Amino acid sequence: MKRPPCMIWIAAVVTLALGGCEGTGFNPPWQAVGASATERGVVIDTPAAFETAVEAAKPGDRIILADGVWTDFDILFEGEGTEGAPIELAAQTPGQVVLSGQSSLRLAGQHLVVSGLVFRDGYTPRNEVISFRKDAETLAFNSRVTNTVIDGYSNPVRSQRDLWVGLYGRNNVFDFNHLSGKQNAGPTLAVRLNTEESQQNNHRIANNYFGPRPVFGSNGGETFRIGTSHFSLTESLTVVENNFFDRCSGEVEIVSNKSGGNVFRGNTFYASRGTLTLRHGNGTLVENNLFDGADAPYTGGVRVINGDQTIRNNYFKDLTGNRFSGALVIMNGVPNSPINRYHQVDNALIEGNIFDGVAAIELGEGSDAERTAVPVNSVFRQNTVIGQGDQTPFSLYDDMSGIAFSENTASARAPEGIASGFEVAGDIALPSTVEGYGIEREETGVSWYPKPSDASPFEQAREIALAPGPDVLSTALADAQAGDHFVLASGRYHESKLVTLGVPVTLRAANGAEPVISFERPSLFLLTGNGALALEGLRVTGEAAPDGKGNSFISTSSVEGSGNHLLELKDVHIVDFDVNGGFSVVSAQKGAFFDRIDVEGSRFEDISGTVFKLDPETDDYGIYNSEFLSIKDSKFERIGGPVVSVYRGGRDESTFGPHVDISRSEFRDIGGADAPLMVLHGIQKGSFTGNVIAGAEPLAITLTTGLPVFRQMDNTVEGAAQDTFAAVSDLRNRK
Ligand code: CA
Repeated sequence: MKRPPCMIWIAAVVTLALGGCEGTGFNPPWQAVGASATERGVVIDTPAAFETAVEAAKPGDRIILADGVWTDFDILFEGEGTEGAPIELAAQTPGQVVLSGQSSLRLAGQHLVVSGLVFRDGYTPRNEVISFRKDAETLAFNSRVTNTVIDGYSNPVRSQRDLWVGLYGRNNVFDFNHLSGKQNAGPTLAVRLNTEESQQNNHRIANNYFGPRPVFGSNGGETFRIGTSHFSLTESLTVVENNFFDRCSGEVEIVSNKSGGNVFRGNTFYASRGTLTLRHGNGTLVENNLFDGADAPYTGGVRVINGDQTIRNNYFKDLTGNRFSGALVIMNGVPNSPINRYHQVDNALIEGNIFDGVAAIELGEGSDAERTAVPVNSVFRQNTVIGQGDQTPFSLYDDMSGIAFSENTASARAPEGIASGFEVAGDIALPSTVEGYGIEREETGVSWYPKPSDASPFEQAREIALAPGPDVLSTALADAQAGDHFVLASGRYHESKLVTLGVPVTLRAANGAEPVISFERPSLFLLTGNGALALEGLRVTGEAAPDGKGNSFISTSSVEGSGNHLLELKDVHIVDFDVNGGFSVVSAQKGAFFDRIDVEGSRFEDISGTVFKLDPETDDYGIYNSEFLSIKDSKFERIGGPVVSVYRGGRDESTFGPHVDISRSEFRDIGGADAPLMVLHGIQKGSFTGNVIAGAEPLAITLTTGLPVFRQMDNTVEGAAQDTFAAVSDLRNRK
């Protein structure tokens, strides 16, 4: 992009002429060069030339970005096309124009069409990557973005909010695009209604591929939002049709519908945690969608709130979620609700849907001292309901006499109060395919950009053998690529440097080998970006670490941002982390997030601090640091303690975690009078089963919000069987 402004003509106009275009190196005989940008088919290869071309553009012009990587390109595409002759901005070759670094695209004006671009390797410095407006006053109308990719273009700081796509104005189309891997706060795509010119917008959002959105770990991980509570009583009239939502699991709302009169039709929601949530606004239609949970955890269907909502002819399949993430959730409302709380369900029509292998249909969900307004004037008819196993999926949390149940078929008897609306049939004929519901993945997005696989990030790419010695790990890992497996021979690996890791790698002992790792810095591994680490068969000693506070074998760093981390410790033996008063094995810094920490068959001896320290988010914003922590078949001895500290504060209901599961493990000589075995604040789900404890204070568990479940059984305390080993305090009802 260092060449001077220059344009090359393609095809359409060959009569003009003439004159060379220095430095393009691209001048086939059938092209004329050096002409103005006012006609079709100009190839642009600098931002300055682009600006000139846009200024001169007339209806019917086509501005073509040259193939290559454009860095920090702040695109403003403003113009006035006409219905029959739009102004186009296209890639020279679809997929070969890459916008990287701090790039963004703004459209403003009338009848503009953008296609073929790829945003990756960077993030937007603005509020949006693609915005259908130039500024608050200058919006885009009758315009279209198509055949475009945004891949991993996430702000490296998780808490920095932005949108990848912001729709403003009216009659805009966003179709056949591929949006995958957003990790920072803010919806992937949002339709904004914040000025009158953006309301009753008739936008069409269709045939897009929404790729995996990992767990965000607080509110703000929606894939899709229409409106906000403030404008929710305004009609948006947006059509969302034939999109594929693939593992969109950022938070409890896959889609947050916060406006009226929208249509969700023919979309597939695949293995996505949460629901299409009709959070605010009235009169939305949800039909012919496929919600296929593929039995993945927390997969749900539709959550209904407000008036005049219609849910018909949808297929709900293999959905495991319950409560806020049920296959169908009818919420209780708040009487005279403020605009940002829960309006009563009134005049809902739920008709002709198939529920096949769903764990939960929740009626009157959220019923509590505040949410007392039960659904009214509503109908549930001609639906087919098959639960999981021989169970009915229905739960009633309040009086459901405001919903008329009729002509439904179910595989198991529905609960008292609604049973008369169902015919129980042993053998229910279902359609042989889900054809007619949702859409196939391959019919969405673009054909020229691969859709993400579901392989484990630790799946071996290269195997690299290492022999012991000083700084062998830091040297080898400096060039690590995603999926590398480093295989360690017996001997001492002594490290004098920090290892900063931004990709997933595995370090494992060679067969029968006994490698030992020691390190001189306060940490050995700093996970950054999407850094992930699997350790297997290693011994780690803290004996060489400095005598200071806050040491941690594995920690996190936001140097290259904070993505989603993974950590696996298998058959790892960690000893002598006791050179100071607070040595940890794993310590998350504020803003870091682990999808999973899995510990299995490992031993921890003489550790002076909190072994797994996941508690720096003390702002009570509902943010936390680890979605799943699992420890099994492991042994902890002489620990300063606690073994685990997890903190998730605030009363927000947007997340499913944190989860903590501890089983078949041994705990001996843990902490003191002021350090319980574990401190679990605000966890949503957990278990403590089959453990042996000697010389430890009970777990300190504080339940703060949501509907937390913590299961304890089959534990043994100093020779005596004991089913509970926790002091539980419940703050849920405290305001
Ligand atoms: Ca949300």
